[in-house]
Amino acid sequence: MTTYEGKCHCGHHQWEVKLEQDQSKHILCHCDTCKILGGGAFTMNQIIPKSALKITKGGEPSNYKYKGDSGNSVNCSYCPKCTTHIYHHQEIMGPDTIVVRTSLLPEARKNFDVGAEIYGKDKMKWEKEIGQTFEVLPPQ
Ligand SMILES: [Zn+2]
Ligand SMILES: [Zn+2]
Repeated sequence: MTTYEGKCHCGHHQWEVKLEQDQSKHILCHCDTCKILGGGAFTMNQIIPKSALKITKGGEPSNYKYKGDSGNSVNCSYCPKCTTHIYHHQEIMGPDTIVVRTSLLPEARKNFDVGAEIYGKDKMKWEKEIGQTFEVLPPQ
């Protein structure tokens, strides 16, 4: 288990994420919501227990809620000053699981490989395959 430090663009929020060895990889999400909210072709994430994230500066982040594919709510937690999305909670995953943005952890940006790609169905047609790609999500 390694602790990684995260920081939003403006530095108002800082946090720590604990990741096991097999979680120390980016999961690329190609869904259209990630393109719109993130401004790029995909976002880089990891699924973790809620207890593995600790906000160390900035207090409770702001919240943006939308309906996901499944019809269940997705709650996005973001910095109110610079709008960086720190993590998401998908209600369908239960109360104790969240999705953190690995692209916001400087060490992860430098060192992580790609673990898998999800929402391959929405991938830009000019993107090459980097990791194992799932049409939507891996089978449970
Ligand atoms: Zn910020
Ligand atoms: Zn996505």
